[in-house]
Amino acid sequence: MSKVQRERVVIIGSGPAGFAAAVYAARAQLNPVMIAGDTLGGQLGLTHDIENYPGVFGNVTGPELVDRFKQQAEHFGTKIVYDLVSSVDFSTGSPFTVKTTDMTYLADSVIVTIGANPRKLGVVGEDEGVGRGVSYCGTCDGFFFRGKEIVVVGGGDSALEEAIFLTKFATKVEIIHRRDSLRAGVALQKRAFANPKISFIWDSAIEHISADDKSVVSAVKIKNLVTGEVTDKPTQGVFIFIGHTPNSKVFGGQLAANDAGYLITDDLYRTNVDGVFAAGEIQDEQWRQVATSVGQGVAAAMSSIHWLQTHEDTLQPLEPVNTEALVPAPVVQEVAQ
Ligand code: NAP
Repeated sequence: MSKVQRERVVIIGSGPAGFAAAVYAARAQLNPVMIAGDTLGGQLGLTHDIENYPGVFGNVTGPELVDRFKQQAEHFGTKIVYDLVSSVDFSTGSPFTVKTTDMTYLADSVIVTIGANPRKLGVVGEDEGVGRGVSYCGTCDGFFFRGKEIVVVGGGDSALEEAIFLTKFATKVEIIHRRDSLRAGVALQKRAFANPKISFIWDSAIEHISADDKSVVSAVKIKNLVTGEVTDKPTQGVFIFIGHTPNSKVFGGQLAANDAGYLITDDLYRTNVDGVFAAGEIQDEQWRQVATSVGQGVAAAMSSIHWLQTHEDTLQPLEPVNTEALVPAPVVQEVAQ
């Protein structure tokens, strides 16, 4: 049987939103517990150079920024637990049950920052190419592709918007899409078709990503899904925008989510469960930046702090109250016998 621990605040997830929430909750003397999951820092931990987070630029990698977030959160009293959440029970109201492999936490308030993961193509060379030419974020990595020829995969709003953005840097952007028509909105389609640096490879899928002898992406193998023809295309970058998968399954429908699985929050980052808040990519389908997630994490923590203050009178004490310690010595002895 797992041990049970009472906490004021449990933060699920360790990305930028989670760490921002942790710093604010810790500085409010709430000693938050952060359940970090299997990748400390989330997607940030897998990102190479960071140049678009205010105040951070010049050879700062994602893992380095995660390490700074971690040091700051721990410095103020966050306890980081390297475990995965296996289930939750929010049906009882506060305190909420959050189970991990080893522990059961009973938390007065929960902040969910469990993120979303970019969908992968699942082809050979993709994982090895991350940070070496394969990217899932044009805003983050576009700058490193100045003067280069790249391909973009996908036919939705993200693919087109990012492809247009990437033309600021790349000399040529070829969009590889698995069908012969786009899912993206008409306005974005018009802008993409009008952009002289953008061209399309229709009805096609990448089958393989190759690298040079320095392990930097150098070519893709493309299959035409109608004719079956396979061609090799030299390229210096592969940007993949085929959607994201929010990590909301673990909540088993207890938190309201949209059709795509993103949690629904209000402008105070409250979920449909009173006392449970959510921030970052688990509830933000649109922006997905370190800076936006940090801001949302701060706001969610402030909402949680405010919620705890307004419910102070009804919250159960964290530890059983040791009333004996408050009464004169003879009574304490009497209790002890
Ligand atoms: P999306 O709308 O789900 O589009 C994903 C695209 O990737 C689709 O074209 C899909 O092809 C393709 N795809 C999916 N799996 C694939 C695979 N395994 N291999 C190759 N291609 C694959 O995702 P999104 O573009 O990230 O957009 C997500 C949401 O954010 C949407 O609601 C979108 O409107 C919104 N968004 C809006 C804006 C904006 O308004 N400026 C910008 C970005 C995102 P099929 O078309 O064949 O299914």
